[in-house]
Parts: sequence; C-alpha cells; structure tokens
Amino acid sequence: MSPLRIAVFAGRLMLALLLGVSVQAAAAGPGATVFELPAAERIHVEEFSRHIDLLEDAKGDLSLDRVAQSTFSPGSLAAANVGFTSSVWWARVTFRNSGSREREIFIRQTYPLIDYLDVYEHTGSNEWRIHKTGDRRPFAARDIAHRDFVFPIHVPSQGERVVYLRYQSQGPIDISLSLFSSPELLESLSREQLAYGIYYGCVIMLLVWSSLVFIAVRDKAFLAYFAYVGTFGLYMLIHNGLAYQYLWPESPRWGNTSLVALINIALFAGLQFSRMILRAKEVTPRLDLAARGLQTVAAILLLASPFVPYSTIIAPVAGLVLIGVIFMLVMGIAAMLLGSRPARFYVIAWSSFLCGSVIFLLKTFGVLPHTFFTQNGWQIGSLLEMILLSMTLSTRMNELQHQSRTDPLTLLGNRRLFDDRLPQEFIIARQEQKPLSLLVLDIDHFKGYNDRHGHARGDHAIKAVANALRKFARKPMVACRYGGEEFTVILPGIDCQTASAMSERLRRTVEETLNGELAITISVGYACLSRGDFENADKFFEAADSALYRAKQQGRNCVVAFHASLEPAREQEPPAQWAATS
Ligand code: GH3
Ligand code: MG
Ligand code: MG
Repeated sequence: MSPLRIAVFAGRLMLALLLGVSVQAAAAGPGATVFELPAAERIHVEEFSRHIDLLEDAKGDLSLDRVAQSTFSPGSLAAANVGFTSSVWWARVTFRNSGSREREIFIRQTYPLIDYLDVYEHTGSNEWRIHKTGDRRPFAARDIAHRDFVFPIHVPSQGERVVYLRYQSQGPIDISLSLFSSPELLESLSREQLAYGIYYGCVIMLLVWSSLVFIAVRDKAFLAYFAYVGTFGLYMLIHNGLAYQYLWPESPRWGNTSLVALINIALFAGLQFSRMILRAKEVTPRLDLAARGLQTVAAILLLASPFVPYSTIIAPVAGLVLIGVIFMLVMGIAAMLLGSRPARFYVIAWSSFLCGSVIFLLKTFGVLPHTFFTQNGWQIGSLLEMILLSMTLSTRMNELQHQSRTDPLTLLGNRRLFDDRLPQEFIIARQEQKPLSLLVLDIDHFKGYNDRHGHARGDHAIKAVANALRKFARKPMVACRYGGEEFTVILPGIDCQTASAMSERLRRTVEETLNGELAITISVGYACLSRGDFENADKFFEAADSALYRAKQQGRNCVVAFHASLEPAREQEPPAQWAATS
C-alpha cells in the first residue's frame, strides 16, 4: 500500500469516526459510462463525478458532433477537479432507465463559479435539449433559480439518455456533480438553507456587535474586525453563489470582478486586525514589519485587479492568501509564547479556519468523502474562526477596561476605579449592615523631597509606598492612587478598631522600611461607617480626607480617626478631641 493510499484510508476512517459518515464508496465503480437508475424512487448520489467520463478540448472549438465521436476517459473525483485551465472540459454521462415509467432526475453542479456551463441532453436521433448557464450569463438563464447549477433531466422508460456538460472558465474548473430525485433534492436544499441561515445570521450578529462596540469604545481593532468579517462574509456569499442569486442577478461581471478585490481587502483587514489585537508592533516588531509587507502586496493586487485579467491575477492572489493565513497563525503562536492573553483564542481561531480549509481541500481532491461537513468544512471553520476572534476582542475589552482603571506608574487602581468602587461598597455595607472603613493617606513633605532629589526619585518613592500598600491591601480591600502622592484604601467588612490597627501598621511599615533608604513617611486619616451618619459615599470620603488633614496638622507621620462630633474639620483649629493614635 502506498503512503498516499494509507493516508486516504486513515483520512476516511478519521472522518467516519468523527462525523459518522459512511466509509463505503458509491455503488458503481469509477469510469462507468452508463449509470443505471436505481429502481428505488429516491436517488441521492453525492460524488457523482465518479460516474462520468471526461474529455479535454484544448482549443475549445470542438463541435457537439465531434465531441460525441471522441474518446472520453473515465472520470474520478481527482480528475474531475481540473483546476486552472485554458481548455474547455466536457463531461459525459449516459443514464439508463430499466423501469416502466419515465424518470425525472436532477444533476447538480455544486461549485457555482463556472463562467460558462452548457448542458446538452440528447433527446432524439439529431435532437438536443440545450441548457446554457454559467456565472457570466444572466441568472435568469438557469432552469432552476438556485445558487448552484441544477439541471432537470428526463430519462424515458426502458431507455437511455446521454448528457454532455461543457465547462469553460477563467477560474478553476471543479466538475463537482451530484445526482438527485426531486424529494431528495428538496430535503438537501432545505438543510442547506438552514445552515446558511445560521452562518449568515452569525456573521450579521458579529458585524452589528463589532460596529456597536467600535462606536462605544472607539478602539480601531473592532473596526478592523468589522472590515474583515464583512468582506470575508461577502466573499463567502459570492463563493457559494448566493450573492449572484440575490444581490446582482443581472450583472454577471460584478461577481467575478469583486471576488479578487474582496479577497485582498479581507486579507488586508485580517492582517490589520491581527497586528492590533496581538499588539505586534510592541510584542513582535519583526513579524509586524513582515505583516505590513504582506498588507502592501495585498493593496497592490487590489489596485491592479481592475486592470489585470482574472485568470492572471487569481494565482498570485491565492498564493498570497495561503502565505497570509499561515503567517497570521505564526504571528499568533509567537505572541502566545510571549504571554499575550488574546493570542490564545486567536491561535485556536486560525487553527480552526485552517482545519476547515484543509478538510475542504482534501474533499475537493477526493481524499475525504463528500459529506455535509467536508463540503462545508471551510464555511464551518471560518464561522468558528470569526466567533473565536470576537472572543479575542472580548479579552481585549477586558484589558482595556482594566487599563482604564489602573494607574500606570504604580499599577494600583486609579481615581476612576476608586470613584466607582467606593459608592458600590458604601451601598452594600449600608444594605447588609456590615462595617466599612476607608483610609486616605499622603506622603509627608513630598514637595520638598521632589525638590531635593528630583522627580525620578520622587516617582521611585511613590512606587515604594504603592508596593507597601499592595502587600497590605489583600482582596477584598481596594488600594488606589487617588492622585499625586495621595492614596486610598477601601476596607469592606473592616470595623473601626481593626481599621485603626491596620492604619497604624501601615504607617509604621512605611516609616521602618522606607525611612532608611528613601526617608519617606506618610500621614493617614481614616473613617468608619459606624462612626458617623454619612449621607453618601462622597461625604464618607470627605470625612476620611478631613482626618488626613488633621494628621498633617498634628505633625505628620501619624494616624487620625474621624469622629462625627468633630465636624466641620477644615475650617476650625484642631480641637483637643482629635484623636491622634500615634
Ligand atoms: P504634605 O506633607 O503637607 O503633604 O506636604 P507635601 O509637600 O507632600 O504637599 P503636597 O501633598 O501638596 O505635595 C504634592 C507634591 O507631590 C507636589 C508634587 O511635586 C508631588 N507630586 C505629585 N504627583 C507626583 C508624581 O507623580 N511624581 C512626583 N515625582 N511627584 C509628584
Ligand atoms: Mg504630601
Ligand atoms: Mg498631596
């Protein structure tokens, strides 16, 4: 057994295991020129290209008579996937109906991007019924208004009918045929309808979601995502023939021209999104440069696409897409290894896209059997990818939110976090009748410190105090840099006695650890919910702040508690009752 055959067998087996599809090939052997219609009413042959004969017409000038006299070679799935070619290809099949009634069957060509597809049905000695379609002909030319090409064929009772299909296209030719009786066709179409409904429903949802988030947060990564999903979704719509059927049925040229443009825009936007979400400029600067190179090539191909024939440009575009997709995966893996959080979803996203694409390709070349999953592998993979990429945006949103509430110098919470959290904790403590304390602290004589040692050393001192605070304030406590060299600590569930002890411990820690090296001390004011009738969180903060003011007045490097009986604090001389605990 050759390695290829082993791979084919293993592939089929894997798919049989995963998807529960049959490992059996279709009934008739390859190369059969006559297809005997089964006696059963229902016919559904998915890989019908095994049962046809093929003929290459290199100059594309053979007449029907000449074709009819030519020698065809037996078809197979691999042979039927012709790829890019300047030749015309003919497929031939003879249907035999041994039954006593005339039978109506449907041939379906599942790859809809064929420029010209003509079907000649031999109905009498010199009579032909001709169906001329293709995506370069108006949509109305089709027998059945469907995104793929579907041809009804009548096979007389006790007789035969020969059918020729003529393929001509600037793009790749994939003679991918299936055969149906009408109930089977209907069932298969309605299943597909549902699948496409889900696919495009999700795409539209993701588009709406990303555009709304972009409007709200103004982060351009959401815009790049929107552009990527929008153009890729539209590309898919063209790829499976729906765009031609519903968006521009009268303009066959449009689909062919816009296809190349859309692939390039999708690639450009995908790369842009990747660079932003992975912060490639900072994390992997060289890969970022390479990504910009790929974007430039995509832009050049985009600008060239109206002037260069489709058949010339499609090969470099396909090559660029292949490089681009693999490159984005590499970029994601590199960012992931360097610890980027969004990169994890990103890598899974591109892997599922690649998996889907590989499954679709293996199906196209006949390695994997034709099933709903292999046929739509690409589409399923791309949907998974879009959803997973939207999750990378969610992690980014969390990061942004975290950043917007973090002080960049000390990495403690910032003023915004404090302003959000204090009212929340205030309300919870009131409702649940639980204690709540608040510390406000400020570095002593810091102006002078800055003047003596310079701002850089001043910053260093601020960080040192913040580190002491971080060690001290375990969850659910919230330590924030309120501004300048002033900090706050919210202490949910902590009563006055404990708050007093904690404040004192904090003051002493700073004094002992920082006094030697940096000569830094702090003053602390604190307030407890039980020690006053505070109207709201603002008043609560003012109370702690006024206690801090008292601490400064009492000589600094000390802790002062707020007492309700002592208000107002700032305007008066400090009364004797102000309780300095240090
Ligand atoms: P007091 O003991 O009364 O608090 O005296 P002080 O000198 O510390 O007075 P105040 O709190 O008003 O001083 C604030 C000084 O803190 C002013 C400014 O020079 C310094 N400062 C504020 N923010 C920063 C910062 O981010 N970095 C540095 N290096 N200095 C800062
Ligand atoms: Mg100060
Ligand atoms: Mg200050």
